[in-house]
Amino acid sequence: SSYGDVHESARKLVGKVALITGGASGIGECTARLFVKHGAQVVVADIQDEAGARLCAELGSASYVRCDVTSEDDVAAAVDHAVARFGKLDVMFNNAGIGGAACHSILESTKADFDRVLAVNLTGPFLGTKHAARVMVAAGRGGCIIGTASLASAVAGAASHAYTCAKRALVGLTENAAAELGRHGIRVNCVSPAAAATPLATGYVGLEGEAFEAAMEAVANLKGVRLRVEDIAAAVLFLASDDARYVSGHNLLIDGGFSVV
Ligand code: NAD
Repeated sequence: SSYGDVHESARKLVGKVALITGGASGIGECTARLFVKHGAQVVVADIQDEAGARLCAELGSASYVRCDVTSEDDVAAAVDHAVARFGKLDVMFNNAGIGGAACHSILESTKADFDRVLAVNLTGPFLGTKHAARVMVAAGRGGCIIGTASLASAVAGAASHAYTCAKRALVGLTENAAAELGRHGIRVNCVSPAAAATPLATGYVGLEGEAFEAAMEAVANLKGVRLRVEDIAAAVLFLASDDARYVSGHNLLIDGGFSVV
């Protein structure tokens, strides 16, 4: 059969260099662990220096860099660090984010919270996309850029106004960048998970452990299956790998069908 190349390698990112913002915790940490298992060299970029450095020491083929994604200097330096340390950048995962104030009322929303959520969750991915594209275009070997949007990119009322605005705009950024960068062989996609237990999500909801899981199960479409951080990392791995070599401009919902019901 001429279809023999499918599932050729069990390790999906051998020889690839990836940069993960917000890589010290939650979805970013889990993705860093999975990427390294799949043969990648990983730069973890975060503002949690201790957790980030500890993770990289444990993982081996990983390097920590302090990077506040709202600072263009920091983001440019993190991208340059990946190239200096590992020789190139193949995968940029713009994942750092904050939940912001757990406030669903426009009447109680504050400008300060709105500005901060937009700065981290939207300006951050903009800067990450810009500087990843800078080195990817110059190297001329293509690349892959992935953002962490949210179920809030598809449904209203799942999060605060600021968070919904930032994540919906991130889908627009993803599509625009995919349209522009395709000619350079660069794919741009994002993932949109429902709630999975990370410090961000449990802090936002105000529930931990079983209470968090029960509250999420109560509103879920897919019953009896809880969304795990590992499920999100697996989707990011797919988008980062050559399995997704013709996937670009896509927002991959990981919501158990919630948004279509
Ligand atoms: P998390 O809090 O475990 O991890 C977020 C990481 O981002 C932390 O390590 C934090 O230090 C880092 N970070 C925050 N501000 C930063 C900044 N200015 N510069 C650099 N790093 C910064 O939370 P998580 O759930 O893993 O969040 C990761 C992404 O997933 C976020 O973009 C979030 O909006 C998104 N998301 C999460 C869920 C969920 O239920 N957990 C659902 C949908 C989307």
